[in-house]
Amino acid sequence: MPKIEVKNINKLYTSSDGNEVHALQDINLTINDGEFVCIVGPSGCGKSTLLEIVAGLLDATSGEILLDGVKVNGTSRDIGVVFQDASLFPWRIVQKNITFGMEIAKIPKEIQNKRLEKYINMVNLKGFEHKYPSQLSGGMRQRVGIARTLAMEPKVILMDEPFSAVDHLTRCSLQEELIQIWEREEKNILFVTHDINEAVFLANRIILLSPRPGKIQQIYDVPFPHR
Ligand code: ADP
Ligand code: ADP
Repeated sequence: MPKIEVKNINKLYTSSDGNEVHALQDINLTINDGEFVCIVGPSGCGKSTLLEIVAGLLDATSGEILLDGVKVNGTSRDIGVVFQDASLFPWRIVQKNITFGMEIAKIPKEIQNKRLEKYINMVNLKGFEHKYPSQLSGGMRQRVGIARTLAMEPKVILMDEPFSAVDHLTRCSLQEELIQIWEREEKNILFVTHDINEAVFLANRIILLSPRPGKIQQIYDVPFPHR
């Protein structure tokens, strides 16, 4: 059963000089159960706009997003997002950053603790539960952000250049970890990057967007054996 369907999405922005920017034109895309889809394309082709619309953080001018056949209105607990900058709360320790969303969602404490244990191990941060974000490296902060999103156990994970602010070696290890998480958890992942190498490494399908207006230029199915 298809999990996420992006149907006829158009997005027009009105820029500060009053001109209209056609950021996305007629985007149609289905992300099936367990797929890892990367969206690539040059700066300004509408990658972030598309991700924000799927996340329910931005309204499309027209079109709709369906999750398991049901229209998504606004944000949903079934859709988790990881941004370039983990945007952690600096005054909260790692553990509290990870449980924050679960607290808001009033998930019972025992379940919170179980998930904290599970996901802190998954992102290799065991032993760092009581550190503040400022005590961690950039790669570790991104891992906290990923654990925080995973802890909500969304059906779909959206990622907007999550590794572009970390150094090359850290990025490689985070990419490896993400593949392992994806294989283990069977999540749908929609991942935005401007780095075609990253997309080829991670995705089973790559959507290439072209700019002005942003539309789907090409779809590539990536064979797996190189992994
Ligand atoms: P990408 O993530 O691929 O770099 P964006 O989604 O950020 O692309 O932007 C797509 C297009 O929409 C660009 O031409 C950008 O200038 C324009 N755009 C993005 N946000 C706004 C905004 N708030 N107001 C006007 N134009 C915008
Ligand atoms: P990576 O994320 O690929 O492991 P990092 O540069 O983020 O690379 O960190 C390498 C390792 O060094 C971490 O896994 C961690 O064990 C340790 N480390 C990095 N920064 C800190 C820190 N501020 N405090 C404690 N340990 C750290």
